[in-house]
Amino acid sequence: MKLAIYPGSFDPVTNGHLDIVRRGSQLFDHVIVAVSENSQKTHYFSLQDRVEFLKDALKNYPKVTVEHFSGLLANYFRQKKASAVIRGLRAVSDFEYEFQMALMNRRQARNLETVFLMPDERYTYLSSSLVREVSRLGGDVKGLVPNTVQKALRKRILRP
Ligand code: ADP
Repeated sequence: MKLAIYPGSFDPVTNGHLDIVRRGSQLFDHVIVAVSENSQKTHYFSLQDRVEFLKDALKNYPKVTVEHFSGLLANYFRQKKASAVIRGLRAVSDFEYEFQMALMNRRQARNLETVFLMPDERYTYLSSSLVREVSRLGGDVKGLVPNTVQKALRKRILRP
């Protein structure tokens, strides 16, 4: 069974992330969307919220599960006996960082291959940080994030 891990902060999940999950689930038998619990980073949404948004958005995908992990991705990868790591590439600007990470991860676990998937063109400009910023300033993020996320963002503005 070919299992892939799609790791990220997902703060919050956007339709761009979901597009990558859909594409990944067509290539692999199973995909684990793994929310990173990074104590060095401050997140807008709690780990629990980030996991819940993903679980809700992916509830009709039997080949996809949502988990969280902390520490080295390579250790989590070994523990899961995964075949690949999925990452999304939106533009050339993503490439340098992703390339570094892919090679560093492979150094940590020799059999860790990173597969890069490109989202639909509609989502190439989309990022969690841009969604947070637009929403914070009162802009419209409809169609860019799942409904539950849209509601949570709105609630967050009213009660920061
Ligand atoms: P991280 O902090 O690990 O970069 P993110 O949640 O920002 O976590 O991103 C996780 C992965 O999803 C990264 O590979 C990123 O390039 C990809 N990604 C983020 N937004 C999009 C998008 N709109 N379309 C495709 N891939 C995306």
